[in-house]
Amino acid sequence: MLEVAQLQAAYGAAPALWDISLTVGDGELVCVVGPNGAGKSTLINVIAGMHRARAGQLRLAGEDITRLPGHRFCAAGVAIVPEGRRLFTGMSVRDNLELGSYLPRARRSRAASLQRVLALFPALEQKLDAPAGALSGGQQQMVAIGRALMSLPRLLLLDEPSLGLAPAVVLAMFQAIRDINAGGTSVLLVEQNVVMAMEIARRAYVMEEGRIVAEGLASELMDRPEIRKAYLGLE
Ligand code: ATP
Repeated sequence: MLEVAQLQAAYGAAPALWDISLTVGDGELVCVVGPNGAGKSTLINVIAGMHRARAGQLRLAGEDITRLPGHRFCAAGVAIVPEGRRLFTGMSVRDNLELGSYLPRARRSRAASLQRVLALFPALEQKLDAPAGALSGGQQQMVAIGRALMSLPRLLLLDEPSLGLAPAVVLAMFQAIRDINAGGTSVLLVEQNVVMAMEIARRAYVMEEGRIVAEGLASELMDRPEIRKAYLGLE
């Protein structure tokens, strides 16, 4: 589904990503973990078309999307749930969700997509007419994920969906991500919650200082003491 090859990105003269190569298979759930400042958000923003690559290639389902203008990434089938959610807090939950389906293909399925989002997050049903800003953090994260799903993505990118949420809500969020993936959507998940991300992901990449320093099946990486200690902050 996604092939990233020798990707580089920078902020002005400061490099942020060095030669990143990774793949997400069709229907696969892959996570990227690593400490603060490792470059995870930059990577996911480049894949979403929100930050330009300086070198390297992005292919989505075989199509080279590297040089597409940012606003065309959504039509190509990529949707991002950005860090911090970026909802329109004064607008209703329904309007926030519908913003995700503004392109013609998604607009045609708007009613069915909304039902799918409500089936995934039943708590939102009672809140459709409430301003998004009045919702709890967990519910706002559901709206952000729902908005991304409304665009009918082939690849869903999630940047730290568990950040700032209570443990019980985090569990529900990871279960929802698992359900979305089980429905056939390929997922690339960036997380600092290493243990939970590794539990739901099939494969994982570990980043440090803008590079990928380890990769493999999530279960295998979790079984390697040197990886746990050096990169995952686990004993
Ligand atoms: P976090 O979990 O804190 O978001 P991260 O792994 O996602 O960390 P990035 O946010 O991608 O890491 O940051 C990678 C590097 O790029 C860091 O050195 C950071 O200081 C730098 N950086 C990030 N955003 C900007 C920006 N807008 N301008 C300049 N430098 C930036």
